[in-house]
Amino acid sequence: MSIYWSRAIREIVPYTPGEQPQNKNLIKLNTNENPYPPSQKVLSAMHEAISGDLRLYPDPDCNKVRAAASNLYGIPCDHIFVGNGSDEILAFCFKAFFDPNDVIAFPEITYSFYEVYAKLFNLKCNKIPLTDNFDFEINCFLGLNQGIVLANPNAPTGKLLSIEEIEKIVKNNPSNIVIIDEAYIDFGGKTAIELIKKYGNLLIIQTFSKFRSLAGLRIGLAFGHADLIEGLNKVKNSFNSYTIDRIALAGAEQSLIDNEHCLRNAEKIIQTRDKISKRLKNMGFYVVDSNANFIFMSHPRIEAKRIFNELKSRGIIVRYFEKPKIDNYLRVSIGTDDEMDIFINQIHEILSTTSTS
Ligand SMILES: *Cc1c(COP(=O)(O)O)cnc(C)c1O
Repeated sequence: MSIYWSRAIREIVPYTPGEQPQNKNLIKLNTNENPYPPSQKVLSAMHEAISGDLRLYPDPDCNKVRAAASNLYGIPCDHIFVGNGSDEILAFCFKAFFDPNDVIAFPEITYSFYEVYAKLFNLKCNKIPLTDNFDFEINCFLGLNQGIVLANPNAPTGKLLSIEEIEKIVKNNPSNIVIIDEAYIDFGGKTAIELIKKYGNLLIIQTFSKFRSLAGLRIGLAFGHADLIEGLNKVKNSFNSYTIDRIALAGAEQSLIDNEHCLRNAEKIIQTRDKISKRLKNMGFYVVDSNANFIFMSHPRIEAKRIFNELKSRGIIVRYFEKPKIDNYLRVSIGTDDEMDIFINQIHEILSTTSTS
């Protein structure tokens, strides 16, 4: 602790990202990265961007990326914002749409960055309870008269809300912004982007880190009414006009153009997920029905923390959250079929060699 720190920084507990180990021999199932690489077209576009033009600043408005997104999603360019990862866009939202001491509502179990941003920007949190099965009770999100942020599918559970349920929440909080974080929407859900044409209080955020296999590039998109997008641009341009570099712009544009590549990989991931979920259930695990590229699982006999440590000692890293209500669960990202076969074999061994204690 330094005497020079602000009060906010003295008090804040930052987000803890999943471990990024240097050892490449580990099977890494802890941060929901895509196990398949981005397409050759994306890589070539980035190689081409490595040129003498790097002496020039990048396009601060990301026009080509927005045009490609506009083309893919059928949304006008002035309804689209490009950010340095969706985390940056979320942070901009907390600044653009809330004042200090405002309340922001989100589920009690969700992406833990929401609470960190709330603290950073001095907002109050209203944590809405979920059912014991981690289901949303939609009625708890109606008429709140508070801004709302929801991950759909939710993290780390994988639970999905339907478009109809999203619309009900947006419609029943007309004076407040509703932010839907669709980080995992392409693994089984249906995006609510269409609804932004009807509701000026809805902002949809997506990331290139999961579905598009570009976690290392740092790109996210937001979709909403032009007034909301202008609000985000005001924050961005009061902070850093060039958040996306030339190489990232080239890769992001090509990823949207070559969307088919991502769809094919998502299809493989969904098949692997459903197969692995079934096998785990047969081994006695409780597995939350997932609509994301991860599963959330718990064993009735062996503690999650113990399984986590056993897996780690066998070269497999998954995610364990030491938090109330979810501290007996593991979140496991879906890897390739080969990786998941090794995972299942190791789980098998752990179950057969671990006695209940
Ligand atoms: C991974 C994730 C993000 C972060 O995405 P980046 O674009 O990599 O910053 C945001 N929200 C949720 C729910 C996520 O799981």
